[in-house]
Amino acid sequence: MVTTRQAIKELLLEEALSSLELSQRLSLPEKEILDHLEHIARAPGEGCRFHLIPAVCKHCGFSFKKRERLTIPSRCPRCRGESISRPRFELLKK
Ligand SMILES: [Zn+2]
Repeated sequence: MVTTRQAIKELLLEEALSSLELSQRLSLPEKEILDHLEHIARAPGEGCRFHLIPAVCKHCGFSFKKRERLTIPSRCPRCRGESISRPRFELLKK
């Protein structure tokens, strides 16, 4: 039996996805996906590295590079815009 966490890991080994995309593919609430992602970020598994692709402000292009949280930021610190792309996640083989 494949657990949800394993299914997420397998998807992230293939391509970078946001928590929303993962929730759509696995038909699970985004909050549940984020719980799994927190664990995967801490323990990506033997030979793997968790990589976070930062959220980006759609208005001014500001990249949330220093942010380590997995959720979408609510507001851009530079232009105050609220249209922000979700951070995306991937698993890389070491
Ligand atoms: Zn902005």
